[in-house]
Amino acid sequence: MCESILTTNQLTKKYRNHLALDAIHINIKKGDIYGFIGQNGAGKSTLLRLITGLAAPTRGTIALFGNDNPKALTDAQKRIGAIIESPALFPTMTARENLEVHRLQKGVPGKACIDKTLELVGLTDTGNKKVKNFSLGMKQRLGLAIALLSDPEFLILDEPTNGLDPMGIVELRKLIQKLNKEKGLTVLISSHILSELHQLATKYGIIHNGKLLEELTANELDDQCRQHLRIKVDQPTSATTVLEKELTTTDFEVMPDGTIKLYQYLEDVRKVSKALTDNQLIIEHLSQNGDSLESYFTSLIGGADRD
Ligand code: ATP
Repeated sequence: MCESILTTNQLTKKYRNHLALDAIHINIKKGDIYGFIGQNGAGKSTLLRLITGLAAPTRGTIALFGNDNPKALTDAQKRIGAIIESPALFPTMTARENLEVHRLQKGVPGKACIDKTLELVGLTDTGNKKVKNFSLGMKQRLGLAIALLSDPEFLILDEPTNGLDPMGIVELRKLIQKLNKEKGLTVLISSHILSELHQLATKYGIIHNGKLLEELTANELDDQCRQHLRIKVDQPTSATTVLEKELTTTDFEVMPDGTIKLYQYLEDVRKVSKALTDNQLIIEHLSQNGDSLESYFTSLIGGADRD
């Protein structure tokens, strides 16, 4: 599973004097659910508009399914299903009628795709109900159905959780997971709330003021946020021997500056400090650490603002 779906190189978008995207490199592989996180105005929609061809880059390149020359890129963009601005829903029509209008507009052959897509998003039973009487979650699913009508290989969703209640967010997450698992769909989904994409995204890109601050896998993010004891002593090597021999644990990491991150004994800090001092080690620092998702995000963008 290492086929490249999207690679951007030095992708830049300038609006007059405002740099909305500043030399962005991102890399999405087949099967990824890529969470694109940034505050309002960070540049998320701009990137999604460039990828889908709704706007043109000022500089840099986009390769979709390995194609980056302009003609091939335009063809490759047809293999994307996207919800970037709110999809046009006709309030006095049913879900089925809405899909039929979009099918004709997109030129998708045959009506069979309508039933298939309605079933996929769980809207088969809405019958004669008009869209104006749909809940927000149902409208969101109908929007998704429109994006899925042409059976895309790559789905792009711009802030689809906006305005949804917690149940709606869970529902959307399950649906995306199902599409990813059953149809092998690759997904790029943006949000300004990191925790909303937790348990969904397999990889994250964090953008701030048009710059990509970090790209990390879900496992790397979980590691960053894992609770631990942060220990600084005068002799780190001796401390690791104490941890292994006396506290019988190897569940720790030694950081480049000699700080030790210990993932056990979170409830028994005294035992750790006693073991270290009994072995004549001088404790310079001992604290319980571990970012929540949001504090990790805010410290990352706070750090970028200070630079
Ligand atoms: P939001 O969640 O608020 O939509 P975003 O991360 O999607 O935020 P963008 O919409 O990509 O952010 O906007 C990035 C920056 O570019 C913002 O400062 C915005 O004002 C600016 N911008 C976006 N589109 C245009 C445009 N057509 N003309 C001028 N400036 C624009």
